Amino acid sequence: MPDERIKKILSLLEKAYPDAGIVLKYKTPLELLVATILAAQCTDERVNKVTETLFKKYKTANDFADARQDVFEQEIRSTGFYKNKAKNTIACCKQIIEQFNGKVPDNLEDLITLPGVGRKTANVLLGSVFGKQAIAVDTHVFRVSHRLELAKSNDPDKVEQELCRIIPQERWTKDCLVIGAHGRRTCIAKKPLCNSCVVEKLCNSDDKITSYK
Ligand code: SF4
Repeated sequence: MPDERIKKILSLLEKAYPDAGIVLKYKTPLELLVATILAAQCTDERVNKVTETLFKKYKTANDFADARQDVFEQEIRSTGFYKNKAKNTIACCKQIIEQFNGKVPDNLEDLITLPGVGRKTANVLLGSVFGKQAIAVDTHVFRVSHRLELAKSNDPDKVEQELCRIIPQERWTKDCLVIGAHGRRTCIAKKPLCNSCVVEKLCNSDDKITSYK
């Protein structure tokens, strides 16, 4: 069970980011799956620019599965690691057609069998399009969890387990989005905006920067 400090942190963050949500733009589970694969080591804003055009051309799993890899690579090139991402996206959609009747599976066990899909991507899908409670540990959730001592592990999958233990299950998805929003907007990687941080008094991080430190 969470201690009082953690409860207070989560409550303050929930109030500070009531609009916390997913930044990637998508209309279907397949679009979110592809966008999340492209978002590895890339900003969501860059991915949104790329998918704005990409999703006009590729609409179904068949469209992606039939893509020419060299052409697809160039279409997603600006997201970085484009060769691997193209290979994984095409292979992923082929498997969705062959094993899941062209539909993105709605459970963790099946999702993580897809090429390029780890627990983070699977949990993004489960929480945001399949209405399940899930904690997706991206770089922002990982950083904030460490700075606020919500988790200790260096392994994102273990951080997920630690967060699952301290956050009530009915709030896993929402609180994960709230922690991510805090990381994007305030507790940013290089220069956190500690003077405007709602949990500054509860933060013991060495990364804390305040004008009165
Ligand atoms: S005080 Fe600074 S380092 Fe600590 S949580 Fe707030 S923004 Fe992040």
